[in-house]
Amino acid sequence: MVDEQLRARDVVAERVLEAMARVPREIFVPEHLRRHAYEDAALPIGFGQTISQPYMVARIVETLGVDGGDRVLDVGTGSGYQAAVLAELAGEVVSIERLPELAERARACLAAAGYERVELHVGDGTLGVPERAPYDAIGVAAAAPELPEALYAQLRPGGRLVIPVGGRFGQRLELIVRSPEGPAVVRSVQCRFVPLVGEQGFGE
Ligand code: SAH
Repeated sequence: MVDEQLRARDVVAERVLEAMARVPREIFVPEHLRRHAYEDAALPIGFGQTISQPYMVARIVETLGVDGGDRVLDVGTGSGYQAAVLAELAGEVVSIERLPELAERARACLAAAGYERVELHVGDGTLGVPERAPYDAIGVAAAAPELPEALYAQLRPGGRLVIPVGGRFGQRLELIVRSPEGPAVVRSVQCRFVPLVGEQGFGE
């Protein structure tokens, strides 16, 4: 997975490649799909949601430029896989999922894989987790129509936010840096994520 899907494309950060080599993705995939755990694809995890394609996880995490001292917010816990990769790289990981059933399952998977340090919340992640702000980095694994203001507001000055922005059926991954002049936006690859459903996301 790491060599063929990540290194062979354009993921270059050694720390990210090593982190992704360490996290057992099969633990985060439903049992009947385990044999597909290292394929180049998103996989269904129930409730109409997916565990992201490994390449998109690598893109988000590499773009975030996570450091060992960082406090990171992961929006859209889903399976918990991206939270686990972030836990390999960051000082603290806070993760929020809107569907309680998925959050419960992610909690069990994270514990089984040894990442019980990840702090899980259930709620509308478009509003962030203000009580734990500010964050050095925020990664969003679901698509938003535009930059959710509450997330930007919870960044530390100089903090980074990576989020797929666009329509329901296709987006560009954006890196937004909190700067004194306001949001500095860099657009990256074309992507397709499940919608971020919430107050500052898409409607139900
Ligand atoms: N990072 C996940 C990807 C899961 S897909 C993984 O590695 O498996 C995106 C997830 O975002 C879904 O589980 C979906 O339920 C969740 N989601 C959608 N809107 C949300 C919101 N407003 N707040 C929190 N989670 C949300």
